[in-house]
Formats: sequence, structure tokens, C-alpha cells
Amino acid sequence: MRAPVATLANGHRLELPFHHVQGMDDGPRLGVIAGIHGDEPLGVEIVRRLLVELDTRTLRGELLAVPVANPYAFAALTRHTPIDAANLNRSFPGNTDGTLTQQLAHVICAELLAGCDSLIDVHSGGNLATVDYVYAGSDRTLAKAFGCEILYGGAAPAGSLAAYAAEVGVTTLIVELGGGQQRNEHFVEKGVRGIRNVMKHLGMIDGEPQLPGEQIIVDELADLKPHQGGLMLSSFGPARLGEAVESETELARVVSPYSFDVLESIAAPFDPTLLVLVREAVTTVEPGDFGFIVANGATAVAA
Ligand SMILES: [Zn+2]
Repeated sequence: MRAPVATLANGHRLELPFHHVQGMDDGPRLGVIAGIHGDEPLGVEIVRRLLVELDTRTLRGELLAVPVANPYAFAALTRHTPIDAANLNRSFPGNTDGTLTQQLAHVICAELLAGCDSLIDVHSGGNLATVDYVYAGSDRTLAKAFGCEILYGGAAPAGSLAAYAAEVGVTTLIVELGGGQQRNEHFVEKGVRGIRNVMKHLGMIDGEPQLPGEQIIVDELADLKPHQGGLMLSSFGPARLGEAVESETELARVVSPYSFDVLESIAAPFDPTLLVLVREAVTTVEPGDFGFIVANGATAVAA
């Protein structure tokens, strides 16, 4: 299935390819979407792997999947749409008479969101960062069933697909997994297992969700965004995700790649601080980029 969006100046007719998988018996309709941010190809692979491995003879209900929500951003490996520099995940519910990104958002709402009972929106950490958590959302049992160790109880960002979905009554799970080209196979497997866990929870396939031994819910996340751009030298790479560190621990330094001066130190704000999004050892960083995302471990409770 292809939903038409618009014809561009270069003559390309932008369409959104969908996959519709109909089960043998009745059941819920689950939407799965990836690639809302184009620099997150890991989510695309999670959706591809889920669909090629799915045995439709054992499926109840329907799966509607959009593997690449923003094709021009995907091709350019950019978070925002290259043509209008907009963030698709701050553009929902979109506007059929708006910018290209708003038109794209409108088509996603009309063709995917309408009619779904539940939706999974798969993200990752982008080109340079690695992440591992899910939003608890309006139905915590769904988030818990996915099987991440850390759930975040806060609201989805304004203008995101999940925020609009909540307004129209579609239970949505935001998944943040992998990125930075680190531990790709681990995170693809975790993502596919997570979506299949949710499908088990919803009764769409047989079996019990495979869950980790401990799951917690955090209510406070901090985006540690540097004020100085340059070279970010991280002491806490992807192997440390989920770990707790003491407050004031130096997570990374930003140094000038020209003078080699230390421009800024990024320190853990909470006691303890849980590592939710981290950077590999050597990356470039601009002011306001996601340096790290950390959670307040002091107010975390069992999920
Ligand atoms: Zn994203």
C-alpha cells in the first residue's frame, strides 16, 4: 500500500509505503511506525525484521506498519526533513495545507493512526548516541510488556505522534532503543522481542512476554545539553546504559578541537543518576544537542 503525500519540485511523487498484515482471526489493530526521525535506521530494521519473521497463520488481528515515516530524512540520515528543516515528531497532527513535513504528518494520522487500537513508535539515539528506555504512556501494562528495564512516566513531547494519539484515544508506546551504530544486533533483537511481547500481551500471538528480572519507572528525566560545541569525550559509553552513578560524576568533557582547551564538563545531576542515553567515546557536539539523557534514581520505583 502506498499513501500519496505530495509531488516535489524535482518531480518525485512522495508516497508513504505501508505494510498491512491481516491475521487469520479477529483481534486488535496494532500500528507500528519507525523512521519519524531519519537518523534512526535501527528502528527501520526492527520493523523489517518483525515483518519478515512474522508467521501470519498464527496472527490474530491486524498489523499496520510504516517502516520509514520520513523518506527524505532517512535518505539523508538527518533528524529533520531536509526540504523544510522541520522535526516531523513536533509536527503532529499535521496540516494538509501546511509545509511538506506537516503534510506528511497529516497523511500518517489519516492512514495509520485512524483505526488503530494501539501504536508503537520506534525511535533510537540518532547517529552519535545510544539509548534504552520506553515511555510508560497511558497504559503502563503495554509499556511494561515491551520489556525495557527503564520506563519513563512523563508526558510525550508536544507535537509528537504519541501526544496526538493520546488526544484521539489511541494507546501509544514510544520506544527509544539503540543508535550510534553501537550493539546493533542486541538492540534489533530487543526491539523485535519487545514488539512481539506487546503482541502477546494484546493476544495477537500466543505466548507470554519475555521480561527482564527488574523493571523500574522513573518520573524525572534530564536532557544534559552542552552549552559549548566541540569534541565530546565521553567516559560512559553504550556498555554503561542503565547503570547508576553518584551525583557530580563527570560523564563527559567538551574540548575545543582547535586549542584543546576543556570547554565544559557534563556532570551527573542526581544521586544516583541513571544513564538512559549515552555517547560513545569520541563524538562531535553542538550546543543544545542531546549530550546525555539521565534519570533521577532516587525517585525510581518498581514498575
Ligand atoms: Zn527519534
